[in-house]
Amino acid sequence: MNILVLNCGSSSVKFQLIHTDADKIKTDTDHRLAHGVIERIGGPALVSFSVQNPDGSQRTTREAVPLRDHSAAIEKIVQWIISPETNIPGISAYSDIAAVGHRVVHGGEALTRSMIITDDVVKQIEDCIDLAPLHNPQNLKGIYAIRKVFGGTAKQVAVFDTAFHHTLPDYAYLYAIPYQFYRRHKIRRYGFHGISHRYVQYRYRTLKSIPREDVNVISIHLGNGASVCAIKGGRSHDTSMGMTPLEGLIMGTRSGDIDPAVLEHLAHKEGFSLSDVEAVLNKQSGLLGISGLTNDMRELVAEAVENDDRRAKLAIEMFAYRAKKYIGSYLASLNGASAIIFTGGIGENSDYVRGRILDGLDWLGIRTDEALNKATTRGKEGKISSEGSRLDVYVIPTNEELLIARDTLRCVIGLELPR
Ligand code: AMP
Repeated sequence: MNILVLNCGSSSVKFQLIHTDADKIKTDTDHRLAHGVIERIGGPALVSFSVQNPDGSQRTTREAVPLRDHSAAIEKIVQWIISPETNIPGISAYSDIAAVGHRVVHGGEALTRSMIITDDVVKQIEDCIDLAPLHNPQNLKGIYAIRKVFGGTAKQVAVFDTAFHHTLPDYAYLYAIPYQFYRRHKIRRYGFHGISHRYVQYRYRTLKSIPREDVNVISIHLGNGASVCAIKGGRSHDTSMGMTPLEGLIMGTRSGDIDPAVLEHLAHKEGFSLSDVEAVLNKQSGLLGISGLTNDMRELVAEAVENDDRRAKLAIEMFAYRAKKYIGSYLASLNGASAIIFTGGIGENSDYVRGRILDGLDWLGIRTDEALNKATTRGKEGKISSEGSRLDVYVIPTNEELLIARDTLRCVIGLELPR
């Protein structure tokens, strides 16, 4: 079956077309046929589409074209996929796309597993807008657009970023504020990046040939957004993001953990409203705020290494130190683990940042193999700790789209979902 995977943002749509079926999942032979992104929807949009050639290379087309909304963008994607010029084997009509899987950021407390999108599910995703005002409305735009483009009978599946974390115990997900606020407003920690942490958990147990119940690891997703997940018996036991993706690690533009009293103080000193302060914490803080240069870790590492820039070095040091503290705290929370796993753009590619995080953890018995660390970048998967290390350290490139495609297939053909 060909599954279209969509990730809709405020003015962008990312997609992958993945060929999968039950046997291919078992043998890990499902594969990507095409992928692309449309940015700046609403104006002269930038389109970049690529087809996977059988030899592994790609054929890419780029253009600027006016697209008024998400429906127009998705229509453009589907027309390109089925076009004879694109020439994807076995695809020439709408009906060759069997189902559409959506990344949906927030499923709240009710939507705890991937599911077929019915009117009732749409309503429940709409009910979660309050909890994810920046994300869920964009994800819904994609769902409405598919109904418009394919007609009401299109098979659509929602895969939630929060779902993997529904196993957090109450003592980990509650904030220590009056309990009635949890009851009345559902204020609690939900966690995000769940699709990525779940994929990492799946890959790790596949690599080690162990059952899910034996997976006790710390998964560290370091990208523009960043989070850590303590995985116990294959399930999320704790995670660093909270009610929103602002809590936890230092990120590209987000502060992560901060004393909440800073909010009032900053508002008072700068004449900011509460939403101004929240915008500072979400958009002007983190690596960007500390370095005063950029939220892009690759540029920061270059500034630190080549130009010895003091604030770029400080930003990286703070980023690494926060991650190190979470590793320590989650090792305590799990009562030990067998591996630490890096993923995400920074976690997969930056041996420098991984090195900064792992440096000084020898008391825990963690020993990094410098050569393996250096060699494991650009999509490579593997162990980067040395033989004598008490804990293994792995790099596992994430593949959220593959997991979304597989869950979509499972929902559509009635296969049981891995819990
Ligand atoms: P993501 O959000 O997962 O796409 O990750 C984006 C982040 O990964 C950006 O901060 C990039 O600068 C960073 N990144 C990608 N490649 C490298 C690299 N080789 N070294 C350092 N950071 C990188």
